[in-house]
Amino acid sequence: MEKSNYLRSVLEEASAKNATEPEFLQTLKEVLTSLEKVVVKNEDYYKSLSLLERLVEPERIISFKVPWVNAKGEIKVNRGYRVQFNGAIGPYKGGLRFHPSVNQSIMKFLAFEQTFKNALTGLPIGGGKGGSDFDPKGKTDLEIMNFCQSFMNELQKYIGADVDVPAGDIGVGGREIGYLFGQYRKIRSLYEAGVLTGKGLEYGGSLARKEATGYGLMYYMREMLTTNNIELKGKTAVISGSGNVAIYAAEKAKQMGIKVLAMSDSNGCVYDENGINLDIVKEIKEVKRGRIKEYLNSVPSAKYTENSGTTPAVYTIKADIILPCATQNDINLETAKILVANGAIAVGEGANMPTTNEAIEYLQANNVLVAPAKAANAGGVATSALEMSQNSMRYSWTFEEVDKKLENIMKNIFKQCKDAAQEYGLGVNYVAGANIAAFNKVSKAMIAQGVI
Ligand code: NDP
Repeated sequence: MEKSNYLRSVLEEASAKNATEPEFLQTLKEVLTSLEKVVVKNEDYYKSLSLLERLVEPERIISFKVPWVNAKGEIKVNRGYRVQFNGAIGPYKGGLRFHPSVNQSIMKFLAFEQTFKNALTGLPIGGGKGGSDFDPKGKTDLEIMNFCQSFMNELQKYIGADVDVPAGDIGVGGREIGYLFGQYRKIRSLYEAGVLTGKGLEYGGSLARKEATGYGLMYYMREMLTTNNIELKGKTAVISGSGNVAIYAAEKAKQMGIKVLAMSDSNGCVYDENGINLDIVKEIKEVKRGRIKEYLNSVPSAKYTENSGTTPAVYTIKADIILPCATQNDINLETAKILVANGAIAVGEGANMPTTNEAIEYLQANNVLVAPAKAANAGGVATSALEMSQNSMRYSWTFEEVDKKLENIMKNIFKQCKDAAQEYGLGVNYVAGANIAAFNKVSKAMIAQGVI
């Protein structure tokens, strides 16, 4: 393959500049490397515009202090972030993550990926991401509210329905969005429904938003598998995670005739040979906010395995379809080898960057189809954009209407990945296809708007 010296020099420069940010560098390497064939075709033109240098630099990084008071009356301080990466296509859009691991590198990788993902949806949204190193686990409702209010006291300066529209992510669900929205409304004295998505149905939320990322993942998987003449019905799956994305991926998988054998959380995984009972998982995770291990209280015949070592227990269970829906770098090379040895057919990335670059290469080299996160989990943000549309119209679509639009969007996203991969002779490398299709859109918008 012809090499692009320009692309390589940008990657080298970005690697030096962001040397302390491993997750951000990981996505830069993955995306830029896969764009080589595209860049080579127009190398001088892109170089004259410093297009890649501009693409890899966030438009704005906001970092702020979040002081709050816990249930014992102690004052705690966390760090908040909002990375507004690229606004060429529309207002910045992307979730908020509350997890102790949050840092600038993770925020930047998520915001960069979000830019590409949002472009693939075909909807007018730019890329952003935010969050805090706050740990919601074990906190009372009041503590969560105190934290969300303090977080919004600062964040509200930088967001708005036409500016930047946050949503949920790890540790941020309907409860947190409610508290954040309430505080925004109070500070601004303004009912600006379109400033946040993932809202409750009583105050501007969209039907099917909660289900959208997981359902969308399975719509994408169906397109990818049927295109490759693989039937879904009768297949088995394992799902890493048991949060929002995992639960609704499992629900749709079941509707498609797939048996979900195992689900997990950060402690370990449950295996149920009869197929995971989702009502029980929803009760544990959505109502009690408990641990997946508690599944055994309802199904004593299920098996629980605690995580140990570098391969999460859920990936040691043999299944046809692997759905990482927890966190980044969940599947490393060692895990990928286990999946291949166990005869996995496909990996569908529900989480963002759940597979390391080496693991993706290994899976693809061993004929495992990979549905890339940027495309396969875009159903959540796409439905968030549908929520924004409904807020602007002051109107609500039915569940079926939103779900149908989501399904069509996912079909279209898969088509873009497939067509781009085909155009550049990349076969079934939908990972590269997604990057190329998104790059073509974002770069055109950036070029049209000049050097800003
Ligand atoms: P939730 O907070 O609802 O659930 C996260 C799940 O992943 C939990 O089961 C959690 O287990 C597990 N998990 C989180 N962190 C880790 C970790 N460090 N190691 C192991 N397991 C972990 O989050 P979501 O379901 O919303 O998000 C899951 C993934 O999907 C993330 O990568 C997110 O960025 C991505 N995503 C989410 C979208 C959405 O609409 N919500 C949209 C697109 C992508 P535990 O409870 O033990 O922490």
